[in-house]
Amino acid sequence: MEAQSPQFKLSEAPLQLLLFIDKRPSSGEKIRQIRQFLKETATDDTYYDLQIVDVGEQPHLAEYFKLMATPSLIRIHPEPRQVLAGSDLVAQLSSWWGRWQRVVDEQAAESASHVRDNPASPHTIHSIAHSAELLQLSDEIFRLHREKEELQAQVRFKDQLISMLAHDLRNPLTAVSIAIETLEIGNSSRDEAGGTRLNPALMAQIMKHARTQTKAIDRMITDILQAAREKGAGIKIQPEEVDLTALCLEVLNQLEEQFKIKSHQVAIDIPSDLPKVYADPERIKQVMINLLDNAVKYTPEHGTIQIGILHRTTQKVQISIGDDGPGIPEENQQSIFEDCFRLKRDEAKDGYGIGLGLCKRVVQAHYGQIWVDSSPNHGSCFHFTLPVYCGVPTA
Ligand code: ADP
Repeated sequence: MEAQSPQFKLSEAPLQLLLFIDKRPSSGEKIRQIRQFLKETATDDTYYDLQIVDVGEQPHLAEYFKLMATPSLIRIHPEPRQVLAGSDLVAQLSSWWGRWQRVVDEQAAESASHVRDNPASPHTIHSIAHSAELLQLSDEIFRLHREKEELQAQVRFKDQLISMLAHDLRNPLTAVSIAIETLEIGNSSRDEAGGTRLNPALMAQIMKHARTQTKAIDRMITDILQAAREKGAGIKIQPEEVDLTALCLEVLNQLEEQFKIKSHQVAIDIPSDLPKVYADPERIKQVMINLLDNAVKYTPEHGTIQIGILHRTTQKVQISIGDDGPGIPEENQQSIFEDCFRLKRDEAKDGYGIGLGLCKRVVQAHYGQIWVDSSPNHGSCFHFTLPVYCGVPTA
């Protein structure tokens, strides 16, 4: 992880000020007014040093200086510190200016006599550098602390994925090895007529089952690798003109076996005049597969899964995947798109809570939106949008 450079620079200016601001739009104007005042009032610009601190980005410094409000202007040198706070900072600065100048002059005189008496140790410069160094260090400690927490969270996330993966791979692996053994035994043992004991239809069924299981294994591994690769990094897409209808049918075809296993009905509603979209076909397949996988996983046997596409505006197409499963409580409808979030109710089911997070990143990389409409016991309908292809990309 790249460490940012320290936010504080060493300064040797006789008067050193820190201005604490926040993200309010009025902050820019406050900075401008104070700079203007200093420029017009100070003898020259080497007399003072004004550093701006955004409390949102460096909360530890607000804590360090025990600030109660923003904006606040702190005289950090000469010591002792003085804090001005409130909306009329320029007026306060103006009324304190004369006294601050006197303090600066007194310090300069004191420092000059100190240098005369101790030529080897320039007192003022040492003290200014010392306080700036302290600030740098506290800044750095805070950043290292945050990085450590992020790294620990990443390690925990990876540990969790590895143990879940190891656990979940066991079932499909066992199923595949049983299928292979059955085929082996059936193939080696002969009936009285000299034929194999397994009839061709049964053999085909066993092989199909084994194939479905290996695909499930493959999907688990792909998901994990993808999550590891993409965590923290932006998703790269290679968009092109895409026929969404064909892509959608291809995905449905690919998942046909899964729909059969739980006897799900699939209802398709795609208009014949759907425009092409500008998207990365492999990534969009991945989103559809994730949403359909979830629909299958969370919908009871004999349920219905709907897939519909709507040409919503001249710019956007909306894809919707609905089911009549248990639904998602309103208070969780945002969090399910965060990594590692799973409803307590579903913790016993296979999964890592990363599928929807990935979907969100892919859709956002296409400048689209993704959301869910749902109410408990009335199913869920996931929607996402993609840009229409207009010859040139539309964002
Ligand atoms: P996973 O399904 O692997 O747990 P996801 O990120 O795909 O991870 O989904 C996050 C959570 O959202 C799931 O654990 C589940 O609780 C809930 N969820 C997702 N899709 C559905 C759905 N179609 N019906 C009900 N709950 C769902």
